[in-house]
Amino acid sequence: MEFSILAESFNKMESTRKRLELTQFLVELFEKTPHDVISKIVYLIQGKLRPDFEGIELGVSEKLVLRAAKKSLGINENDIITTLNKIGDLGTAISNTLEKKTQTGLFDFGIDSDTYDEAIFDTKANTVERIYEVLWSISQLEGAGKNIQDKKINFISSLWNKSKPTEVKFVTKLLLGTLRLGVAENTVMDALAIAYSGNKENRKKLQHAYNVTSDLGNVAETIATKGIEGIEKFEIILFNPIRPMLADRVKSETEAIEKIGSEFAAEYKLDGERVQIHIEGEKVVLFSRSLERIESYYPDIIEKIPKNIQADNIILEAEAVAINENTGEFLPFQELMHRRRKYKIEKAVTEYPISLNFFDVLYCNGKNCTELSYKERREILEKHVKEDGFAKYIPMNIVKNKNEIEDFMENSINAGSEGLMLKMLDKPYQAGSRGSHWLKLKREYRNELGDSLDLVVIGGYFGKGRRTGNYGTLLLATYDEDEDTFPSICKVGTGFTDESLDQLYQILNSKVSIKKNPRIISEMEADVWFEPELVIEVVASEITLSPIHKAAMNAIRKDAGLALRFPKFTGKIRVEKAVEDASTNEEVITLYKGQKKIAHDKNLM
Ligand code: ATP
Repeated sequence: MEFSILAESFNKMESTRKRLELTQFLVELFEKTPHDVISKIVYLIQGKLRPDFEGIELGVSEKLVLRAAKKSLGINENDIITTLNKIGDLGTAISNTLEKKTQTGLFDFGIDSDTYDEAIFDTKANTVERIYEVLWSISQLEGAGKNIQDKKINFISSLWNKSKPTEVKFVTKLLLGTLRLGVAENTVMDALAIAYSGNKENRKKLQHAYNVTSDLGNVAETIATKGIEGIEKFEIILFNPIRPMLADRVKSETEAIEKIGSEFAAEYKLDGERVQIHIEGEKVVLFSRSLERIESYYPDIIEKIPKNIQADNIILEAEAVAINENTGEFLPFQELMHRRRKYKIEKAVTEYPISLNFFDVLYCNGKNCTELSYKERREILEKHVKEDGFAKYIPMNIVKNKNEIEDFMENSINAGSEGLMLKMLDKPYQAGSRGSHWLKLKREYRNELGDSLDLVVIGGYFGKGRRTGNYGTLLLATYDEDEDTFPSICKVGTGFTDESLDQLYQILNSKVSIKKNPRIISEMEADVWFEPELVIEVVASEITLSPIHKAAMNAIRKDAGLALRFPKFTGKIRVEKAVEDASTNEEVITLYKGQKKIAHDKNLM
């Protein structure tokens, strides 16, 4: 398939944010796509080469692209940088500069077989297949030595050869991971359903297939080659993560009973990290809540857990929690975060011991368990997983009324957990959805705002006094799902300890960007801008209308956004959350309206 078809399609998609138009462009693209390329197309649309959980990285920096441009395109670096400073995107800057230089509109620098590998440069046809293959080869290069850098430059040059400026633009964006078409997974699934089954309603079936495998390319290939029947037969694949089921929040025991009836399971809501564990024999793979591979942080789980399992293969969910080994008491999430380090992990394992607390089983002995009820799943869990000092079932009680919930909540808080998860006994596991079959009841929901917020760190301000040399204050943002951007909502400068400031400084230092990332929406000044990659938790006393901040702009009042009043860092750096899982504008609007309602109700009393 000609790469120009894809580039043209990208161009159209970049020009709109309207979901219906995007869907239409995707349908047109899929109709032109041969079945054996569809999975690649679907990954590339999302700026990836493979599903996220495989962790494939290109490791190409702007600096390297500039070096490649100088070498093979013969463009002066300063020309590009001048354009880059105006436009803010290197892909566009290079293609614009190139457009001015080439008369033919086609870049062709021939092959010097001493310098370049001819096989890669066989550019008779500039196809999606070839571009993908070269990108893949780049991703497979390990190390950072000069030799590797030179190889990467050659590969990058080969990607540009015989390309039109539009193609150069998009190939460069793919290389740098800056392709942002604003196409959500749901939109891709709508388009797949229309293109391959003629019925948008089939999206639900695709959604199910995606939720159990987390691999949109596979889903696309299946519907293209086997039709909707193939999708209906889609099954869980061991070692492919299942998208997690999430819980709705409730503010009181009474609200919980209203929502889920008179008898349900109450489990401790432990304050640790959610881990999805796939096991077959000695092979153990761990996924985080955002479906990243996390084996390196938990060598103790890998080593200890196979002997607790009495099944040929199994997929389990558990909460890993830091504990005090002497008393068995659960420790806060912050303790566990000491495990999130690249080096000296053995030391962290000894210093910060954990227990693993199982709460669900999704697959066992080759069979899907997600369609079974909670009760049946808990039985399977207790049958196939043995408890010991390290592995436990999460504490659970069947509760029937408000008093029983309150008593169990008391125990849970005393044991050092956050509150309770309340789960309907007869309901299945709904992968990838947040609904009322599971509810969470946290103690902190009784605070003024009703909930904490998970916000994205976008900027920093250097501290004074004791905080000199650290970021004393951070600029935070929500996630705008419609626009795929991060609008600012507040500055936070309280709640930090010296230790958390040091920890944040170390994490954030690797995220400093020269220019403000275009996905950040803010008119604030900052001493430093960060790539939007880190989520932290804050509480606040109130949400107010704001002339300065951009979160939920125009949603409540024209020309006003929403801001947090008296925000305070809770101490939780939520490294296990992707920025797209941060609190959304919608959630902030709901909280804003909720506080209005409480104020109104109070006035009436
Ligand atoms: P939160 O900010 O409350 O952690 P979240 O958006 O990460 O929310 P939710 O579905 O809202 O996810 O809350 C569930 C989280 O609570 C899970 O991701 C898991 O890490 C944790 N958890 C602790 N105990 C349990 C339990 N018994 N059952 C399910 N999840 C639990």
